[in-house]
Amino acid sequence: MKFATELIHGGAPIDPEHGSLSHPIYLSSTFAQRSMEHFGRYDYSRSGNPTREALEEAVAGLEKGAVGLAFASGMAAISSTLLIFAPGDHLVVCEDVYGGTFRALTTVLKGWGLNATFVDATDTAAIAAAIRPETKALYLETPSNPLIKITDLKGAAALAKEKGILTIVDNTFMTPYLQRPLELGCDIVLHSGTKFLNGHSDVLCGFAVAKDPAVGQRIRFIQNAFGAVLGPQDCWLVLRGLKTLKVRMEEHQASAKVIVSWLKEQKEVAKIYYPGLPEHPGYEIHNAQSAGPGAVLSFELSSYEVTRKLLEGVKLSAFAVSLGGVESILSYPAKMSHAAMPPAEREARGIKDTLVRLSVGLEDPEDLIADMESSLR
Ligand SMILES: *Cc1c(COP(=O)(O)O)cnc(C)c1O
Repeated sequence: MKFATELIHGGAPIDPEHGSLSHPIYLSSTFAQRSMEHFGRYDYSRSGNPTREALEEAVAGLEKGAVGLAFASGMAAISSTLLIFAPGDHLVVCEDVYGGTFRALTTVLKGWGLNATFVDATDTAAIAAAIRPETKALYLETPSNPLIKITDLKGAAALAKEKGILTIVDNTFMTPYLQRPLELGCDIVLHSGTKFLNGHSDVLCGFAVAKDPAVGQRIRFIQNAFGAVLGPQDCWLVLRGLKTLKVRMEEHQASAKVIVSWLKEQKEVAKIYYPGLPEHPGYEIHNAQSAGPGAVLSFELSSYEVTRKLLEGVKLSAFAVSLGGVESILSYPAKMSHAAMPPAEREARGIKDTLVRLSVGLEDPEDLIADMESSLR
């Protein structure tokens, strides 16, 4: 099946009992058993729920993995997956990893004994140099946030294979429609499904998908042991959101391209970070490993005052954290995702006080441009 067909027909089959096209929501915490010796497929919803399973299978299929698991948030998926490692283990992590992942790694997981070294993952040699005897995995994000840096996934996965370690990729920005890390040799894909997968800014959810069934079972064990599962009603909303993933991503991306062309002409815009621009340093690698540049971009404005005018002036784009919804969102990394970072360190990483990130929604791009234009001028 091609991707669009799989979105519609790839998950659970049509309900054999009544023929309903929409998967039923099984709001049951427990399931009655018929036999004393042989329990049925489901016993308790933390361990398995039919609505959750339909969603888990749908997402695993889209990412071409053997096992998919749905969690209560992206951070629940990420932290549960990192618990497959043991105290004393070490990870090599991209330096501009999602802020919540950075926090979990440097506080809770560090205290538990899982160590991480943060490296510039655009440089495969830098990743190789950070690998130690106790390193168990590479943890990557591409494009990264908010500077849209590109990591060569095939190169990183080949290096990991050679060392006998896993490659984990947070694929939130791209979704499996645009990029499938498991097909490039990586082992585990993670998602904040809160963003494009669900796509409607109304559910928090997360996913882990493993290529190898044995790795998948290790994560499933943690999912059941720690219990950060996604509830059946939210699973149903995400199943519904997923059906339109292809058409949403196509529209988001087409509008993003129109907006980038406009931004390029604006004297108030000093720099644009978008992997669809040929001058982006990761352009070639991104094109080789994905089907498009996506709909998240960052840009620097000419001054702090202009930045304030844009963020406080826009009426259509929400000035908010998050991304990937049908509504456009402008966010301000210096005060939002990277607020906890000291200003000097933030500047050193290139996250200036004039940097904004745009997640392009499904509004007409001409209206979005008119809105930004009137708040800039
Ligand atoms: C939002 C986000 C997360 C965290 O997901 P939640 O659903 O908010 O817990 C992780 N990684 C990336 C890249 C994100 O954008």
